[in-house]
Order: sequence, then C-alpha cells, then structure tokens
Amino acid sequence: MKNIYGMTLDNLEQYFLEHNEKAFKATQVFEWLYKRRVSTFQEMTNVKKETLEQLEQDFNMQGITLVTKTEGKDVIKFLFELADSNKVEAVLMKHDYGNSLCVSTEVGCNMGCAFCESGRLKKVRHLETHEMVLQILAVESYLKERVSHVVLMGIGEPFDNYDNVIDFISIINSGKGIDIGARHITVSTCGIVPKIEAFMQDGKQVNLAISLHAPNDTLRNQLMPINKAYPIEQLISVLKKYSQKTNRRVTFEYILLDGVNDTDACALELAQLLKGLNCYVNLIPYNETSHIEFKKSSKETIMRFYDILKKNKINVTIRKEFGRRVMAACGQLRSNYEEA
Ligand code: SAH
Repeated sequence: MKNIYGMTLDNLEQYFLEHNEKAFKATQVFEWLYKRRVSTFQEMTNVKKETLEQLEQDFNMQGITLVTKTEGKDVIKFLFELADSNKVEAVLMKHDYGNSLCVSTEVGCNMGCAFCESGRLKKVRHLETHEMVLQILAVESYLKERVSHVVLMGIGEPFDNYDNVIDFISIINSGKGIDIGARHITVSTCGIVPKIEAFMQDGKQVNLAISLHAPNDTLRNQLMPINKAYPIEQLISVLKKYSQKTNRRVTFEYILLDGVNDTDACALELAQLLKGLNCYVNLIPYNETSHIEFKKSSKETIMRFYDILKKNKINVTIRKEFGRRVMAACGQLRSNYEEA
C-alpha cells in the first residue's frame, strides 16, 4: 500500500482518471492533506463515500515519529524514526526572513566525503518521497508555524535519489500542496554531473548549490571521492551550461578547513576557476565533530579568504553558524544517537 504523501498532484490526477473519476478530485485531496492537514481520509468531507473507501484501500497516511530533538538558539534539530525504524534528521533554522528546514534525502550516505559525519554511516537506503514530505509536515506541526524555506542539505546525496527528490520538490512547490516557492527551495549536490544535466533539462526553478570545497582536483580528490568520477573541469562545464540555459545563479559551498583548503593560494585558484560563471560562493565555517580530525579555520583566515575572493570580483558570503551545541552538522545527531 502506498503512502498518500508520496503522490504528486499529477500522480493523483492520473489515479483518479484511472478510476473513472474527475481529475479535480486530486486537487480536493491535496487541499485536505496540505491546507487542512487532516490525518484520516474520513475527514475529507467533500469527497464521496465510495471514493474515500477506494482511497483507504489504496493508500495509507502513516506519519513519521519524532524520537528526540535538541534545541539551541534559533535552531532545532529533530531526529525522526521511519516506518522500518531507520532514523533521519532534519534541522530547523530560524532566520529573520523565515523558517528554513534542512531535509534529509537518504538514510546514511555513500559519497564518503572526508569531513562529513553522514558518510561515516553508510547508506542504508534512499528515502521515499513521502518520507521527505513528512519531515516538513512533522516540523510544522511541532512548531505551529510554517516552514518557508527548504534546503536539501541533510543526510544523503539528493541526486543519488533523483526521482524521489524531483517528486518531493513538485509536492512542496505546488500551490495546491505545501506551496513553498521554487526560489525558496535549494538542492545541494556533491556534483553528480549527469544528474545536474537532467536537473537542467527538468527545468525546475529551484536553486542549485554545489559542494565544491576545493579549487583543484588534487585536493578535491582527497576530500570528496565523487571528484574522481566527475572532476572539476566536467563539473564547471556542466554548470556553465546550466547557468546559460536556466539564467540562474549557481551557489558554491566551500567549507573552510584549517590548513587544508583555506590558503591564499586556494582562494586565488578558486577565483580563477569561477571567473565568468554566474555564481556566488558561500564560505562555511566547518562544524567540527569528535570523530573527524579536521579543524575549522580561524576567523582571520576566513576573512582573508573572503577578501581575496571579493578583490577578484567573486560574489561571496559567509554562512551564519548554527547550532554547534546541538550537533547540527549533517549526520551528527543520528550518528551520536546510534552509538549511544
Ligand atoms: N550531499 C549533498 C547534501 C548534503 S551535505 C552535498 O554534498 O551537497 C550539505 C552540505 O553540508 C554540504 O556542502 C556538505 O559538504 C556540508 N557539510 C558536511 N559536513 C559538514 C560539517 N561538519 N560542517 C560544515 N558543513 C558540512
């Protein structure tokens, strides 16, 4: 039996047509699910009895369970248990512009980035579409507030779970669904080039962020194994195509690791690499974890790196630090929980 929260509006319209019903029923059901937030089919009072019975036969509405949460200033980290007892996390960040939720896309991750906690726990499976949608619904129901922004930067590699991620975006972006504007949704990838290409063809107006973290292959190979499959030149080349075709600006995430990728030479090389590309760089202070030896760069080093990019006319920002006390680095809550 399928979970109803995994159905896009298109899927539901198709479903009703196949059952000799009008497609607009899909809109009605969507509104009950996402505007009214009912938890049983029986509450959908404008849907006729036979249709409800059919829906109950074909779908369940099972949610996900909040196992634990940790709260810090402007940040809440949630650990959820899925129907098969696997666990994933989501992190809520309160900004002045709204509530931004960092959503997980897989249980564990196979990308093996050297600095990342999520990769210490290998991928168990990808998340189904409904398991991503339900992270948002559960957080909104806890907060009694709307999630206005979604970033796919939790555990997992979104483009390693491409089809479900695309359906997830379609459900949360739909005006009849959760109605989060495309420009308020950001997909972050370690750089799976063929999937970036597919994403470009798909034409979704959401933001694309690339975890770069190094300006050359020698260094990036050491930090991110994916670079051996899709080296920097291929990555930059597909991103040039992407920004030309979509007219959208690409974000580069660059974690600053003390003594590793934070030298002046790295900054200059990065500026050279990105010259002429419609992009901006988001410098990320590393969130240290007890299991991994990397250290964060000092404030002075971060500022120097920033200044070099600026001087070389690269748009650059420094990411606000959230939740060091609540273990907000992706994967930390889950891995500490599993170890306890
Ligand atoms: N797999 C995707 C999305 C999940 S990781 C990706 O690679 O983009 C989301 C972001 O958090 C990535 O930029 C990742 O490199 C970064 N990240 C991972 N561990 C971190 C840590 N300890 N401190 C700061 N950023 C981290």
